[in-house]
Amino acid sequence: METHFFADTLINWYQRHKRALPWRDTRNPYYIWLSEVILQQTRVAQGLPYYQKFVAAYPVIQDMAAAPEDEILRLWQGLGYYSRARNMHHTAQQIVEQYGGTFPDNYQELLKLKGVGSYTAAAIASFAFKEKVAVLDGNVFRVLARTHGLSDDIAAPASRKIFQELADSLIPADEPDTFNQAIMEFGAIQCTPVMPDCLFCPLQQSCFAFTHGLVQELPVKSKAKAARPRFFHYFVLAYNGTYYMRKRAAGDIWQGLYDFYLYESNSKNLDADQALQELKEAGLEIDETQVILPLKDYKHVLSHQKITARFYTIKLKSRLKEQIAQEARVAPYTAEELEALPKPVLISSYLKDAKILVNL
Ligand code: SF4
Repeated sequence: METHFFADTLINWYQRHKRALPWRDTRNPYYIWLSEVILQQTRVAQGLPYYQKFVAAYPVIQDMAAAPEDEILRLWQGLGYYSRARNMHHTAQQIVEQYGGTFPDNYQELLKLKGVGSYTAAAIASFAFKEKVAVLDGNVFRVLARTHGLSDDIAAPASRKIFQELADSLIPADEPDTFNQAIMEFGAIQCTPVMPDCLFCPLQQSCFAFTHGLVQELPVKSKAKAARPRFFHYFVLAYNGTYYMRKRAAGDIWQGLYDFYLYESNSKNLDADQALQELKEAGLEIDETQVILPLKDYKHVLSHQKITARFYTIKLKSRLKEQIAQEARVAPYTAEELEALPKPVLISSYLKDAKILVNL
């Protein structure tokens, strides 16, 4: 396919079909970066209110850098992939401390920022500074595989170089920003994964997949590994209107978010007696007559894990001794304080069902 034809066709299509999105009307690298971080693995409709919340809370990067991590995670709550939020916070601090609050203005420097990979660096460099560097996201992989007939596995790291070289050969020097926006939007709206609109596609006659009957076969993507099942038994330790919560540590999912005291088993067949025994062995004093057993299981699916959770409510007779609370890494919070804590969606769902929090 002729290079200019491809770029011109996409750009013309984009001018007619693009969605009006707030981050497209700006060259402010902070806002562009923010939108890109939020939109990774998130649909536009879901990400838009988060973008608006963050811009309202932190109009300039100095505001984000100075914010406490709990506040960032609370605003992020519901988007998942919380390491993105923590990296975003670190990056904001890095830019304020090392770059005087001004974003680096080129691809290579942008790559040095924490949590900024080649996709995000290319997006900021092209959208904010018009640098000629092609973005490569899932939409771009799909469009290029189909239009140019590339059958390399897009899930294999080695394929990236092949696609990057092709994208770099197609991007025009005078409009790299519009081309990048156009190809991603084209993949999101026209050349979609399941039902691409080939009938009304301006690239139809020159599209390799269409002309060879391979639209459903391209792109080639090897299957991801099956999600690992995990079984969480949460103990909701309640005393006099307070609930004992624990801040999750590094090395597992949901770092920095708050949940309850947790026992994880290899099988979901942990019965109530066994569960309470586990709790006693951990040194937590409980009154078994005050135990409310779980009414149902909660399922929560992450990209590589499938969690089944049960919640056992334990009404404590007295406040936990300081040393025991410290060893269990839990601290008491009132319902109002709980509301403000960043929590996994799984915990929020339970709190709502249990009517501990109603306004989530
Ligand atoms: S013809 Fe179909 S597969 Fe080819 S670019 Fe257009 S929408 Fe995508």
